[in-house]
Amino acid sequence: MSELKYCQGPRCHTYDTKDRKRGPKDNKRNETRRRSSFYYLNGNACSMQCQGDWFNVYGTRALQHFGYITQPKVLTQDNAWRVQRDWRREGNDQYFVYNYLTEERRPLTQQQYDNDNTITDDGRLAI
Ligand SMILES: [Zn+2]
Repeated sequence: MSELKYCQGPRCHTYDTKDRKRGPKDNKRNETRRRSSFYYLNGNACSMQCQGDWFNVYGTRALQHFGYITQPKVLTQDNAWRVQRDWRREGNDQYFVYNYLTEERRPLTQQQYDNDNTITDDGRLAI
């Protein structure tokens, strides 16, 4: 059984829906939604509205915390690799890395294809 968690939208409780209502007649209140899983904000917000609310309140602070990009990021042939699969082929022939600047294609084993470390987070070939 998965654990219930609260929507992280700072205004979630202000949206007036039936499923947010709690309490007896004389003490009605709306509460933040609680679910085992959410679809928005990487699984942390119940709706696109709550995701947007989170960003409006915390987005700038998140950028300040993790740092702004102050120079352009650059795509070169060194970091233009992407793991791909050709569904029309069979066996190990269908797995490859593809460089979308040079259009070079190198075969992979299925094991390399399934391995998240075959390409680094910034698109460099690690094998
Ligand atoms: Zn919400």
